[in-house]
Amino acid sequence: MQVTGPRGTNDILPGDVERWHLVEERIRSLCRIYGYHEIRTPIFEHTELFVRGIGEATDIVEKEMYTFTDKGDRSITLRPEGTAPVVRAYLEHKLYAAGNPTKLYYLGPMFRYERPQAGRYRQFTQFGVEVFGSRHPAVDAEAIALPVHLYQALGIKDARVQINTIGCPECRPAYRQLLKDSLRDRVDQLCPSCQRRYERNPLRLLDCKEESCRRVTADVPTIYDSLCEECRDHFDRLQVYLEAAGIDFEVNPRLVRGFDYYTKTVFEFSSSSLGAQDALGGGGRYDGLVEEVGGQPTPGIGFAVGIDRILLAMERQGAAAPAPDGVKVFIASLGEAATLAAVTLLSQVRRAGIPAEMDYLGRSLKAQLKAADKSRARYAVIVGDAELAKEAAVVRNLATGEQAEVSLAEVTLHLKEALK
Ligand SMILES: [Zn+2]
Ligand SMILES: [Zn+2]
Repeated sequence: MQVTGPRGTNDILPGDVERWHLVEERIRSLCRIYGYHEIRTPIFEHTELFVRGIGEATDIVEKEMYTFTDKGDRSITLRPEGTAPVVRAYLEHKLYAAGNPTKLYYLGPMFRYERPQAGRYRQFTQFGVEVFGSRHPAVDAEAIALPVHLYQALGIKDARVQINTIGCPECRPAYRQLLKDSLRDRVDQLCPSCQRRYERNPLRLLDCKEESCRRVTADVPTIYDSLCEECRDHFDRLQVYLEAAGIDFEVNPRLVRGFDYYTKTVFEFSSSSLGAQDALGGGGRYDGLVEEVGGQPTPGIGFAVGIDRILLAMERQGAAAPAPDGVKVFIASLGEAATLAAVTLLSQVRRAGIPAEMDYLGRSLKAQLKAADKSRARYAVIVGDAELAKEAAVVRNLATGEQAEVSLAEVTLHLKEALK
């Protein structure tokens, strides 16, 4: 029986991979422009990192991690997100010693055991940034502007930005209490998940998609009246800075995000072209996380966006897929002596940086030229016995049919000129 790929994973085939290259190149170029440096952390970490970094009472840690015991009896987890590993590496390698703010980005596969659906897989690819060491709300504005810039550069025209604040350990407890009090006698009308969240994480009630929960929580107080002065000022200035940077956004008082570690700013990107599951990515400030993972108190902020989601949005909005890179020169030859000359030519042409191919199937000259046409090469170099006797080859322009006899020593130079 033939073995197939595991559920929720994808093979990215030639023809599709060009879109990935395009997105990856845009990401790397934007990160250079915005002053972020790449960091690559391992695909797996000690399970404890995610339990401490993401929080025990989250869907990810409770239900979605690929966790196993390795042969040394250690509990290992395939990374379900990028922030905790980057925080660990930041501390382990004392990256703060070079002077903060430290601006890092990552791009790579993450793993979550979820129900696969369009643009949502068990192995998925995320691009994210983390900034350590600054409390300034202009950094929050930058962390929102960068992905917006990326979406625009990739032709996703309807990317929507929503922002909110969820306060800090100073002011959030009072709001949690206020929220619980206002719902105390209606808890039984909430969905089962929200009934559980009511005690543990009542803020999550605000973004429940269940109709019943929406109705029950319709008139609850927002956090804005409970914010401490610092959080209020931070949120006000963030909005001023976003406007100054020309970023359109909406304030959504119900936006809370799934992670426990966020403080102050949270934000989310979506595209209506994705349908009901419209999220493109999001992030937030996490001023307590570095300490939680064992470092000195260090403010931080970051975002993560899904590449699979971006590609789906691009496709749905009709963004053209880049054409695969093709070969430019096809070297056709017949007979052993000519093939020997062709191998030499192929090597010279490739070393000159020109994508080139030759026949590896022992085809007739006619079939080779057909293959050259099919490969959409621009030139064919034909090495036959007659030409070989003169130490020459025929260079044919496959579009016009024009051809010239060129000495073997000059074929590469000739092609370089012709392809200019
Ligand atoms: Zn506060
Ligand atoms: Zn609910």
